[in-house]
Amino acid sequence: MATLGSRRSTAEIIEKYHFSFQKKFGQNFLVDNSILDKIIESAQITKEDCVLEIGPGIGTMTQRLAEEAGAVVAVEIDRNLIPVLEDTLSAYENVTLINADILKLDLNRIVEEHNGGRPIKVVANLPYYITTPIIMALFEKHVPLHSVTIMVQKEVADRMQVGPGTKDYGALSLAVQYYAKPEVVTRVPADCFMPKPNVDSAVIRLTRYEKPPVEVEDEAWLFAVIRASFNQRRKTLANGLANAGYPGIGRKQVEEALCDMGLPAMIRGETLTLEQFSELSNRLFTRRKTLG
Ligand code: SAM
Repeated sequence: MATLGSRRSTAEIIEKYHFSFQKKFGQNFLVDNSILDKIIESAQITKEDCVLEIGPGIGTMTQRLAEEAGAVVAVEIDRNLIPVLEDTLSAYENVTLINADILKLDLNRIVEEHNGGRPIKVVANLPYYITTPIIMALFEKHVPLHSVTIMVQKEVADRMQVGPGTKDYGALSLAVQYYAKPEVVTRVPADCFMPKPNVDSAVIRLTRYEKPPVEVEDEAWLFAVIRASFNQRRKTLANGLANAGYPGIGRKQVEEALCDMGLPAMIRGETLTLEQFSELSNRLFTRRKTLG
């Protein structure tokens, strides 16, 4: 089997298997070897690594990952791609193919089974319709991982790395930056894919922190506060949080906590840093506890 990665070899596979692209699965296959090189290089894979690939497609990146890594686990939802992958990956004994929806898998169990619970590296050209749920599942469920190197929609990459005061800043920026250090590796124009998507893309690497940069009493509560603060973008943070209906947390409690932090009562969520959100969540956590 010849290596993939060019427009011509991808077109040949599509034709050989009479494969039809499914829009509902976000199928835009990468057909640019220089971008593939950049992804592989930035993921810094060694023979010691177990790599999880989400959505291998026809196996273009999987082949490259299999050459660099000790083991690759590739999870593909589309069963029409399984016979294709069995063909394109037949030369690689270190690849395990799983036909499943990534969002329904117990990823901690996968890491336990395939890497003895040691941290893995995630590398993927993600299906864009579920980018955020995939990232949040990896981080919030504490899947043991070193890094996540992913192709995402350009705007989503921007959202992951911006700070306060910009229009792209929100719950995703804060969640990513709590768990990992984000770095955009490269921008990727739409014509590097087949079929060509309507948006440009970017490769971003998220390197997991061993310890988050801020200390919080309760991680789930921090994210509850962040989500509520951004839920109603045109409202003040105090209103957004009060409307979320958390017991013991009304507008008065939030405004008092903000005042104790030296912040104006009318402040909006998009101006607070991660440090300020963690301080606010800790202060409100104490109030919640005091109020029972
Ligand atoms: N890795 C290939 C490449 O770079 O050419 C394909 C990338 S394509 C953008 C996204 C892939 O994810 C498709 O193969 C699609 O079928 C698969 N996919 C979509 N939703 C999925 C899900 N929920 N679980 C696992 N795979 C999924």
